[in-house]
Amino acid sequence: MANSTAELEELLMQRSLTDTQLLSAASAAADFRILPDATVIKIGGQSIIDRGRSAVYPLIDEIVAVRKAHKLLIGTGAGTRARHLYSIAAGLNLPAGVLSQLGASVADQNAAILGQLLAKHGISSVEGAGLSAVPLYLTEVNAVVFSGMPPYGLWMLPPNDGVIPPYRTDAGCFLVAEQFGCKAMIYVKDEDGLYTANPKTSKHVTFIPKISVDEMKAKGLHDSILEFPVLDLLKTAHYVHQVQIINGLVPGNLTRALAGEHVGTIITAS
Ligand code: ADP
Ligand code: MG
Repeated sequence: MANSTAELEELLMQRSLTDTQLLSAASAAADFRILPDATVIKIGGQSIIDRGRSAVYPLIDEIVAVRKAHKLLIGTGAGTRARHLYSIAAGLNLPAGVLSQLGASVADQNAAILGQLLAKHGISSVEGAGLSAVPLYLTEVNAVVFSGMPPYGLWMLPPNDGVIPPYRTDAGCFLVAEQFGCKAMIYVKDEDGLYTANPKTSKHVTFIPKISVDEMKAKGLHDSILEFPVLDLLKTAHYVHQVQIINGLVPGNLTRALAGEHVGTIITAS
């Protein structure tokens, strides 16, 4: 190990930071998961929180019960208010970076809402999930709420087409799970999982319990139940090799998914 560290150091000093030999020496370093026992769950904005009490209260009860056995990083989506902002701002020809900031403010609102609902159970929401007090909260109460939008803000990578920020809360939550080397990434939405087409707009749809990223792309489903960049993030990830999408409107689904049961759809990297 000492040798390879010295070799890496030498390469770092001499080569470009994207030199292939340097990159392979760097990736030979041992894996290190920061929060290996935690699971990231994303609570959908449009699909869950925007439904209000009927969807949110049962889920809060389930989270409170299930965190006794699981460490949870609870990320929030944005939803209808963000879509409203995006449509106004896009109509005014504002850029993706500005829309990203607007969307983040809505995910923040939803984190504030979940934080207040979970407060009496000792579960706090943090501003910016980038560590801060996250490990302490996880150790003490097994759960913490964060705002799901990745903090690219004005520096959001512009999309090929239009001005809607491509990296939104599905991507933000995935990246938290991957960077922290978490155990699992579960998306809590309002459908049983992935179908052959959007079940809200198509009549004849078939449920897909398990699928790989490549199969999803081949079927033209890359832009469906998850933001499309998540699929590529999943393919290149070091730690998180699958994500699970469950219906949070069905009581017990979250508990079952956390217990390792195959509820909903599992999307695999390969
Ligand atoms: P969130 O609330 O987390 O942002 P979204 O509303 O963006 O969730 O995504 C979930 C929605 O994706 C579902 O309600 C469904 O209408 C839609 N959707 C589109 N295509 C599909 C598909 N092929 N299978 C399942 N859901 C789909
Ligand atoms: Mg969405």
